[in-house]
Amino acid sequence: MKIRPEEITTIIKSEIAGFEGGLEVEETGQVLEIGDGIARIYGLSKCMAGELLEFSNGTMGMALNLEEDNIGAVLMGDFQEIKEGDSVKRTGRVISVPVGEGLLGRVVTPLGEPLDGKGPIQSENFRPVEFLAPGIIERQPVKEALQTGLKPIDSMTPIGRGQRELIIGDRSTGKTAIALDTIINQKDTDVICVYVAVGQKASTVAAVVENLRKHGAMDYTIVVAATASDPAPLQYIAPYAGCAMAEYFMYEKHGHTLCVYDDLSKQAVAYRQLSLLLRRPPGREAFPGDVFYLHSRLLERAVKLNDELGGGSLTALPIIETQQSDVTAYIPTNVISITDGQIFLEPDLFNQGVRPAINVGISVSRVGGNAQTKAMRSVAGSLRLTLAQYRELEAFAQFGSELDKATQAALSLGERMVEVLKQDQWVPMSMAEQVMIIYTGLNGHLKDVEVEQVRTFEEQFLSFMKAQHPEVGAAIAAEGVISDETESKLKSALTEFLQQFAV
Ligand code: ATP
Ligand code: MG
Repeated sequence: MKIRPEEITTIIKSEIAGFEGGLEVEETGQVLEIGDGIARIYGLSKCMAGELLEFSNGTMGMALNLEEDNIGAVLMGDFQEIKEGDSVKRTGRVISVPVGEGLLGRVVTPLGEPLDGKGPIQSENFRPVEFLAPGIIERQPVKEALQTGLKPIDSMTPIGRGQRELIIGDRSTGKTAIALDTIINQKDTDVICVYVAVGQKASTVAAVVENLRKHGAMDYTIVVAATASDPAPLQYIAPYAGCAMAEYFMYEKHGHTLCVYDDLSKQAVAYRQLSLLLRRPPGREAFPGDVFYLHSRLLERAVKLNDELGGGSLTALPIIETQQSDVTAYIPTNVISITDGQIFLEPDLFNQGVRPAINVGISVSRVGGNAQTKAMRSVAGSLRLTLAQYRELEAFAQFGSELDKATQAALSLGERMVEVLKQDQWVPMSMAEQVMIIYTGLNGHLKDVEVEQVRTFEEQFLSFMKAQHPEVGAAIAAEGVISDETESKLKSALTEFLQQFAV
């Protein structure tokens, strides 16, 4: 680092001044060098790592590199007006954000400032953006379901409250759609949602907020946005800020929360940018060596707390964007290893019209199964196998009638199940409805329905059940199992409906 003569004089002067005055608590410093959103500051020797700093024009910064006689800080806002020699004040606190009920329905920056033009945020409480994840003793195993309302996920990769489930896939494969449907499906539950947008276009974030509002989901949702045009440090802290806002509801209100980080690849890129500017040595794919820690300390904050701590939970749905479905790149492998499972989305499936475009074969949920309702587990048990068999035989489908009976049956069932698992955006389904249609498909009741007709069948069948036999769905929802009585009612309703559907 080059220091100019004038600066050397000021440094020497202040060193001497320090000697004369004996001990001196240094609360203000001076900017030595500034550029690219990074400042080197002299004179804040007592500064803490991660401490919030205030520059003379009111811009905030965060101390990241604590070196022998200067510190490297990143700037959170406008740095054009800051000049060398400007003073910098310590604030004595690490970065914290306002938290509380006042944030619900709001769109805020990672520093908690409003972005939606609805006036100041009503909040008396603050929580630090960086917070130590709870240890083993403070936790308990995941045991309640977090319903996404999406058939393929709730049936085959069920998510439990307190779990971390990665949504991973290429550009435009429906990653955000899954997260948003999950948020919408939390309506009428006690789950508070936080959607963190990192490095996206402002217009995309605006569309997300509009859609959440339209579906009545903003009442229980906080949106934290650091868009692509925001400085890298803001994009870097955005997920932690969103997590802190959720933690308030979990630790202080003993409630259930859901955090969506959309997406962590962009956060990693922002972190790489500021690390390189701080001259930290680059490693694999030019990411700094601690990029694993960037994501692990965030995702470890997802937890199901033990009963002494109130039993609240924080479920995390991180999103990662891959390039050409390459899950072996650095950031994807990191996040896969930190999470409790992944939902893998494939462009090929998406383009074939299989939406949500989930690759069932490599999507897993390692803990959510414990939390799945018995009703769903009983019907979905053989679903994964059915689909796997179908995939294997798919290549032979063109031989049609030359195949033996068993193969034909497996193909016919598989084709229909793929249809059953398709679902449009913005229409999350209740557990009972999902159970009824999956039960119908898997038990062969669709074998006489044309493949193209399956989705029409589903729609009409479910509204028939709602109108004519509401007690079946209600019983499944209330009991969480399909009792023998419910099953026979469902069967007779099916027979009745199939007759009228055929004509
Ligand atoms: P990006 O990489 O740009 O963030 P993404 O992976 O988040 O993309 P989305 O924006 O969620 O993908 O979805 C891409 C497009 O596909 C959107 O236009 C969305 O409306 C559509 N889409 C997503 N899921 C479904 C679905 N289940 N049915 C129909 N359309 C869908
Ligand atoms: Mg997206």
